[in-house]
Amino acid sequence: MREAPSRTTREPVDLPVDPAVDVAIVGGGANGLYLACLLAQRGVAVTVLERRETIADRPRAFGIHPAALAALDAVGLGDAVREQALVLEGGAFTTSAGREVAVSFAPPARPGPVVLDQRIIERMLERRLDQLAPGALRRNTPVTAVSPHPDRVQLALGDAGRAVVARCAALADGVNGELADALFGPLRPRGPARWYAMAEADATPGPRGTHDQHARLVAAHDGIVESFPVPGGRRRWVVWRASDAPVSVDEFRMLVRDRARASVGRIHGSVAVFRAQSRGRRHIARGRLALVGDGAAAVSPIGGQGLALGWSAARVLADSIEQGLSVGSFRWAAYRRAVRRLFARARHRSAFFMRMGDPVAGRDLLRRGAALVLGAPICRPLARRLVVAEAPPPARTTVGRRDAPREGSTVQARG
Ligand SMILES: Cc1cc2nc3c(=O)[nH]c(=O)nc-3n(C[C@H](O)[C@H](O)[C@H](O)COP(=O)(O)OP(=O)(O)OC[C@H]3O[C@@H](n4cnc5c(N)ncnc54)[C@H](O)[C@@H]3O)c2cc1C
Repeated sequence: MREAPSRTTREPVDLPVDPAVDVAIVGGGANGLYLACLLAQRGVAVTVLERRETIADRPRAFGIHPAALAALDAVGLGDAVREQALVLEGGAFTTSAGREVAVSFAPPARPGPVVLDQRIIERMLERRLDQLAPGALRRNTPVTAVSPHPDRVQLALGDAGRAVVARCAALADGVNGELADALFGPLRPRGPARWYAMAEADATPGPRGTHDQHARLVAAHDGIVESFPVPGGRRRWVVWRASDAPVSVDEFRMLVRDRARASVGRIHGSVAVFRAQSRGRRHIARGRLALVGDGAAAVSPIGGQGLALGWSAARVLADSIEQGLSVGSFRWAAYRRAVRRLFARARHRSAFFMRMGDPVAGRDLLRRGAALVLGAPICRPLARRLVVAEAPPPARTTVGRRDAPREGSTVQARG
């Protein structure tokens, strides 16, 4: 049974075609680059089409969970990341009554996340891809239309007036991906939404010049204040907000001081305000097309699980793509199952984190404090379980009826 196209904006056009590749990936962010490295390692001819000239410069991920590190090991980058990253020694959650529940990540406890800026990791992935498949990343290359066919996918490169033809395509165009929206329908909210303000500041060194390597979370009655050590003697501060109203550097300092009785060092750059909400799609793969990364399933940034989710799923996708290329038809059931499972766990974790950081009053406040203090022995192992440590599930291959391609239609990006 063949499904109707989700949105056809124009029929395929004849464009001069670049040499064909096995897999074209739209989007050279963290997930597009990662999938390309995995495939290039297996000898798959891959091209990454990225509209940006350089890596996105806004700060995003900094917490790298063990599952994400394991994924980086799979492309030969785990050790390089460990070398540069800051190792989180533990975390402490303080109730507004001043009670503290601490978790250690020091041996023999299970390791926690390490801390490194996403932009540094993307640069490493870019270099790794260049070693594995020189020239595979094409920057300044926006994809403006995608035409799935029974035996290939054609991607129009708008400004260049050319097209790329691939045996299979992965859309890694992110949470605002217009092509993914047009082909697979919009991302839908899954779970609560919140606003947070975020800034990076100098850390205050201890008496011997050492820096605190613990995450600190203070659940104030008017919203949580979180602070994480980052490499270079800095801390990343995240503060609960009631709305997306901009926050000045001075206001940010006051918020932290009033809520957590802590002082923020010299702030680098401005204060960013972001919305946190998990969002997913009903369909993520069809015919010769699959979505990967935030465009397939975007978990709320609270909890720092986005990269672990995207890369763990990409490992399963790489298996499915490799198998599809060898037999000439693509089966996505194992990939769909993996994304569903990984996303469900990740979004429940982040919803838990977000609720723990909400403003509370009166009885709720007492209840939360009492639960944490009385339940501390239970909370600690629970908190450790909140670290994303799982390995990716093995790829299985079963055919789903929804695998039928929607070929012959072209879907365009608006921009
Ligand atoms: C504030 C914040 C904090 C976060 N903190 C963490 C954290 O601590 N730990 C963690 O693991 N995760 C974290 N995340 C999540 C993580 O940043 C994302 O999961 C990750 O960046 C998603 O990568 P992606 O490659 O799927 O999408 P993106 O990084 O958005 O990449 C998509 C790429 O596709 C390109 N593109 C789009 N359309 C086209 C087109 N038509 N043609 C060509 N190119 C196109 C874009 O230019 C872009 O480069 C955080 C996110 C935010 C917002």
